Amino acid sequence: MKRLLGQVAVVTGASRGIGRAIALALAGEGARVVVNYRESRERAESVVTEIRTAGGYAQATQADVSQTRDVDRLVQWTLASLGRIHLWVNNAGADILTGEARTWPAERKWDQVMAVDLKGTWLCSRAAAEAMRGDGGGAIVNLSWDHVAHGMGNPTAVIYAAAKGGVAALSRSLAREFAPAVRVNVVAPGWIRTEWLDGASVEIQERVKDATPLGRSGTPEDVAGAVAFLASPEAAFITGQTLLVNGGVVAS
Ligand code: NDP
Repeated sequence: MKRLLGQVAVVTGASRGIGRAIALALAGEGARVVVNYRESRERAESVVTEIRTAGGYAQATQADVSQTRDVDRLVQWTLASLGRIHLWVNNAGADILTGEARTWPAERKWDQVMAVDLKGTWLCSRAAAEAMRGDGGGAIVNLSWDHVAHGMGNPTAVIYAAAKGGVAALSRSLAREFAPAVRVNVVAPGWIRTEWLDGASVEIQERVKDATPLGRSGTPEDVAGAVAFLASPEAAFITGQTLLVNGGVVAS
């Protein structure tokens, strides 16, 4: 049975990686999915094609989640095109691990991660909840990181810890603010096979495997399954919670 039949779901940063898998999973559950991206238009369009080829419904829309004007445009576009918003997944994250961003000064990396991961989640959650509360309610799922409570000792991890710890904390308060109309939950992935880990050395990949009780790194689909559950009616009595998807590396 399709758990999200006819629901309208917005997935931010859905052009690749975990966001792509979430968009596919929600569409597979019957949701009509808005595939948001910031600059990777072709990749977002190819996610849309994948969903449509599988018999689902999707449309791609550009918006920078760190900009209020873009977030408002994304909400208004979705409401005008699809009528309402039932689900919103704040997945978009700044990539400071690959490409040119790897060489940025630390302060620029900090500003970018805070703008996209933390401020973007805040802006989108507020805008989405406003639309949902006026029209039957809904559910928001935010992406954090499993190590925020445990810590990790490197300069990049410190930046992600601050932003993703903020996401976990603000989600607990938003869950209270938006209740009972809108549920807000968090999925906190661990080591997941997206572009960074796929491109990492064999040594790092082996270390990840050895450190993981379940004996492998995670897949984007592992994370997407948890998001789909928290978005579904099966999670109707769950709000303000964080679900770690990490093979047991860190326990909550
Ligand atoms: P990727 O770096 O592979 O993809 C990031 C996505 O976010 C892209 O679709 C990108 O779109 C989009 N994006 C970036 N900036 C913006 C912006 N300003 N506005 C809108 N979209 C934007 O990320 P992952 O798939 O690896 O991670 C997804 C989420 O999961 C992130 O929040 C990440 O922090 C979190 N996470 C990931 C882990 C992992 O192991 N991969 C572990 C823990 C947490 P475009 O290409 O168009 O810029």
